[in-house]
Amino acid sequence: AEMRVAVVGAGVSGLTATKCCLDEGLEPTCFEQSQDIGGLWRYTEDIQASRPSLYPSVISNTSKEMSAFSDFPYPEDFPVFLPHGRLLHYLRRYAERFGLREHIRLGTTVVSIRKHPDFASTGRWNVVTEAEGKQTSHVFDAVMVCSGNFSEPSLPLHCFPGIERFRGQYFHSQQYKHPDVFQGKRVLVVGMGNSGVDIAVEASRVAAKVMISTTRGALLLGRVFEHGYPWDMVYNTRLMSLIRNNLPGPLSRGWINYMVNQRFNHENYGLQPEKSCLVREPVLNDDLPSYILTGRITIKPGLKEFKDNSVVFHNCPEEEPIDIVVFCTGYDVSFPFLEESVVKVENKHASLYKYVFPTHLQKPTLAVLGLIKPLGGIMPVIEMQARWVTRVFKGRGANVSPPVYQNAAQILKTEWLAYMDTLASFIGAKPSVLGLLCRDPWLALTIFFGPCSPYQYRLGGPGRWEGARQAILTQWDRVLKPTRTRVPAGSSSSFPSLLTILGFLLLLAAVIFGF
Ligand code: NAP
Repeated sequence: AEMRVAVVGAGVSGLTATKCCLDEGLEPTCFEQSQDIGGLWRYTEDIQASRPSLYPSVISNTSKEMSAFSDFPYPEDFPVFLPHGRLLHYLRRYAERFGLREHIRLGTTVVSIRKHPDFASTGRWNVVTEAEGKQTSHVFDAVMVCSGNFSEPSLPLHCFPGIERFRGQYFHSQQYKHPDVFQGKRVLVVGMGNSGVDIAVEASRVAAKVMISTTRGALLLGRVFEHGYPWDMVYNTRLMSLIRNNLPGPLSRGWINYMVNQRFNHENYGLQPEKSCLVREPVLNDDLPSYILTGRITIKPGLKEFKDNSVVFHNCPEEEPIDIVVFCTGYDVSFPFLEESVVKVENKHASLYKYVFPTHLQKPTLAVLGLIKPLGGIMPVIEMQARWVTRVFKGRGANVSPPVYQNAAQILKTEWLAYMDTLASFIGAKPSVLGLLCRDPWLALTIFFGPCSPYQYRLGGPGRWEGARQAILTQWDRVLKPTRTRVPAGSSSSFPSLLTILGFLLLLAAVIFGF
């Protein structure tokens, strides 16, 4: 009989999990508590507890070529970075194209997931769902947890002395929708993640004054990178990854530091990250540097205390009058339907092998998708996790021992490309550049020097896709199409030439010395 898999949630992770189950001949049932698919990317004006909420100006931080599911490129006329509506449209097309809807039960909440009494021998799970006030019990052979991690706002008010006496308005970034609340006001944004910076930039267009308070600082990258290319298509190439991973630690950090300080010096802009730049997620924003330079936004240190109508920052004697505070303090990871003994979350992080499998279960029949945040497109990462997980469920692919515990500090040390390659090698889908060099040299060079677009992982192995080669060779066309709109596109762009030469020499050395 087919293996029955419960998929919790029909957002990015749930959709690709359902599709990967179908590809592997498993029988998925995807439970989604709301009345539509799309998860985080489905914009609604109202804010509901325990549901992710977007502000309407959200645009993806990774380019469309690096954010695609590996066998489903974005349409060429979509912009290079995607407004949330386009992303949702893409997800809907994905669901149509692969016939996912018939496996999704909308308006159905997963209430609890418990080990079946015979779990030790079968790995099965009892799953209780609720729809229209009625509970139903099911038994599944395996479970994929795809419930996302932007539903539970983290609002640690106890960390902010005096907040109870503050007479201005305050709210968490999850509550934010439109900048008109800031009209003419003095605004303080707490926390320098992507939400904080996006909201500060929007507020500064209408507010009297905007400050961002950051305890740790952050590396700030722009979507528009060297020579105007999308940042991730320059940063996540096999060549760059090879260089980054093979330089000695201090040299590699020095090089990254040099690169990220080329646009502007982080120290001069009050942004310099506290310790190593690698421990927190960089922030992506093209406007912030110029807004700091033009005095629209001021960067401040951590908060010391709130007063009635003002705040005091560390190391600054004077009080700053404030009308509105937005706490952009991120989200907590939570799985209310799971027992703690299955996935224990501590300090926002769970112990999971390769960020996916709980390490102590007798059977690897429960997987959590999308918890990792490497520096690159998250959708291909989740898809790769789903491809691996479905192989493991079927008893193929890698086995999941020995357990390896990984935690927050490693998130950025886990290179996007290295993580993708590791999971791909578990399922036999990692492309071999050297192998290709003889058979298809042009493709091999494109794979090595060009962006590591997800189609690379569909050239061979299970789930091989006929269109992968073509998708790789036309990736720059889809990037240039929506921007080269005045003069008809001539020849395709060539990648930064110096790098290409350097890389070619490296590749040559690799071949000669059997690197
Ligand atoms: P976040 O990245 O988790 O950042 C939260 C920040 O809040 C921390 O970095 C810290 O900032 C501050 N903070 C947390 N606890 C604090 C405390 N106790 N006291 C003082 N400050 C505290 O949260 P987020 O910005 O909401 O982003 C959540 C996720 O969504 C991220 O993965 C982000 O990339 C993503 N996102 C993406 C987009 C987009 O694609 N356009 C937009 C928004 C968010 P300091 O260290 O600076 O003090």
